[in-house]
Amino acid sequence: MAEYDFDTVLSLKDINRRRFLKFCGQMAAALGLSQSFIPQIANAIEKVSKRPSVVWLHLAMDTGCTESVIKATHPSASEIVLDILSIDYHETIMAAAGEQSEEILKKSVGEGGYILIVEGGVPTKPGYGRIGRRDMMDILRETADKSAAIIALGSCATYGGVPAARPNPAGIKGVGEFLQRPVINLSGCPVNPDWLVATVVHHLLFGKLPELDKHGRPKIIYGMNIHDNCPRRASFDAGKFVEEFGSEEAMEGECLYKMGCKGPNTYANCPLIRWNDKISWCVQSGYGCTGCTEPGWPDAFSPMRAVLPGISIPVFKGVENTADKVGAALGIATAAGIGIHLAASAMKGRTKKDEDKEKGGEG
Ligand code: SF4
Ligand code: SF4
Repeated sequence: MAEYDFDTVLSLKDINRRRFLKFCGQMAAALGLSQSFIPQIANAIEKVSKRPSVVWLHLAMDTGCTESVIKATHPSASEIVLDILSIDYHETIMAAAGEQSEEILKKSVGEGGYILIVEGGVPTKPGYGRIGRRDMMDILRETADKSAAIIALGSCATYGGVPAARPNPAGIKGVGEFLQRPVINLSGCPVNPDWLVATVVHHLLFGKLPELDKHGRPKIIYGMNIHDNCPRRASFDAGKFVEEFGSEEAMEGECLYKMGCKGPNTYANCPLIRWNDKISWCVQSGYGCTGCTEPGWPDAFSPMRAVLPGISIPVFKGVENTADKVGAALGIATAAGIGIHLAASAMKGRTKKDEDKEKGGEG
């Protein structure tokens, strides 16, 4: 295994100490730790001498999560952490192809003890999704057997995502469901690179993986409700809604609930972490949250523009926003009606859960 020289990596990336410590501060915030942890995070990253081996498989997907993780408008501090990983096999970025790449996979699997990162859903019907004349599901089973830990990266790998949407002819499943063993689920379409980085940093800092929620996601990342932490929340509470993209209300940053925002039923730290070097995120950009980190997405959250039912709006106190009443209470366009009824049945479970949470139950 190659040695890891931290100073060399810093100079190659042209990242100075100040920027590195700033990144450590952002990681402390992402991990829900105080800024006093900055020196410990810096130390944990610097002291790595051996790079953990990673095998990265691509199953049914569009490489969007790889794009998200490796994209760099300029060398970022997050890249330092990703460089700690020795990515021995990655079909999209490796120079080898064909039989040569198959040999590399065989060699990596033979050595065992690697972290297996899986991007994409698992086609469970024979003949659907093949690489090198082998079904993807057979490659996954074999690769998973000798791995030390498995990370399902993105919504397709975690719960099926877009390729598992109706009618799902390939019988796509998430990795954990297919393998019937615990995996670390980093959902999102695409995954935020900082979610992978924060998971790695947590392991470096504490010597263990973060605690997971009931959907197999790290609580430090997915324990935060989008709606509760949204900068537009004051508009929601005041009943001020955007009714048309590009309108004055949209420009003023009012709430996107009536445009189909699924933030109230979605859990992730997007408002804190954001995307593209922390420039923006879905709600800030003006479209709203589609619920991409949640199991069942996208079917359970479709149509994307339908108003989420069962959500109490403070200014309409006492009027429950159910599928039947939403139009009357809020003056929603009838065009969204069919979608509301579909979404109502798909989301009934989560809505009930949220109500329980508000009454002091488990989140
Ligand atoms: S409904 Fe969406 S835009 Fe409105 S406050 Fe909630 S998360 Fe923000
Ligand atoms: S804001 Fe919603 S749709 Fe956007 S990335 Fe976060 S969870 Fe996904």
